[in-house]
Amino acid sequence: MYIVPESEVQNLITPDEAFDAVESVFASMAKRSAYNFPVIREAIGHADALYGFKSGFDRESLALGLKSGGFWPGNTKRGLTNHQSSVFLFDANTGRCRAVVGGNLLTALRTAAASAVSIKYIARKGAKTIGIIGAGHQSAFQLRAALKQRQFERVFGWNIDPSMLSRLEGVSSEAGLPFEAVELEKLGAESDVIITITSSFSPILKASQVRPGTHLACMGTDTKGKQEVEAELVATASIFTDEIAQSVSIGECQHAVAASMIHQDAVVELGAVINGDHPGRLSEEEITLYDGTGVGLQDLAVASRIVELAIKSGAAKNIDF
Ligand code: NAD
Repeated sequence: MYIVPESEVQNLITPDEAFDAVESVFASMAKRSAYNFPVIREAIGHADALYGFKSGFDRESLALGLKSGGFWPGNTKRGLTNHQSSVFLFDANTGRCRAVVGGNLLTALRTAAASAVSIKYIARKGAKTIGIIGAGHQSAFQLRAALKQRQFERVFGWNIDPSMLSRLEGVSSEAGLPFEAVELEKLGAESDVIITITSSFSPILKASQVRPGTHLACMGTDTKGKQEVEAELVATASIFTDEIAQSVSIGECQHAVAASMIHQDAVVELGAVINGDHPGRLSEEEITLYDGTGVGLQDLAVASRIVELAIKSGAAKNIDF
């Protein structure tokens, strides 16, 4: 069995390789050759922790396994990241545990890759401005991956605590782009692409603040009750997602579906656009929304790539198990 520790992951996989892995597994999901198993997520009644696992199987790549972990709010005080996860891969022919991979950086890369894939396929080709709502740990990964998809010229940022926006300013200056901290009205009025990546449980962005032609990638809502944009905005948009079952139950679409403003038939898998089975954006005026809920197969796809690279470079520890 191979072990790839968290500390090695950054030396092995690039954001571009994570992008390719996620793009490819979304395509497999839409072809029904890869599927996710039901997600388990529980408050364990200890250390205020939320623990769970996401799992699945890709019959094309034979990636089989799970990502297990969750959120431990007391970790910061211990000098640890609050979000903790590990990926376990199994041999699809024998069921033997094949590898364990540190899942923290992997999660950030696979989540950023998902919104970037949505921008590649659905945002307007001429998009020049990008707005990021949220300035936590994930936001920097989101912005870096998004900037590769279009010739962006300006970056806008909003966060409930504006002092955190220096993180996005830093990423923008790395890319040689001007950054402006703005109110939501300006962010909505001037951004061609908007990414939301917060832990909010109530809508931040209103339908009236978003102009025609915008592409939104809503990435923070991955649990029942969370919400980043008004349900009216979801109902106005052409909606794409990683997995429809998650989108309507734990994703941004949950609220519009519960209010009967949309039916789940209105939600299209991004993989169908990647495969050429759905045209994606239909006009320059359409508002498109990608509901990125985060699926286990994304984790397995990126972890499998990391293991391949680790074996090749000698970074994987091989133990008898
Ligand atoms: P973080 O704790 O580092 O940052 C949280 C961000 O949310 C900060 O910008 C914070 O200011 C903002 N925020 C918190 N409460 C808010 C509120 N009530 N209103 C507005 N903004 C608020 O977290 P992170 O690692 O950057 O992750 C951000 C979110 O993305 C989390 O909710 C996480 O669960 C989610 N996430 C989703 C996926 C996915 O695949 N969809 C993957 C990983 C993380």
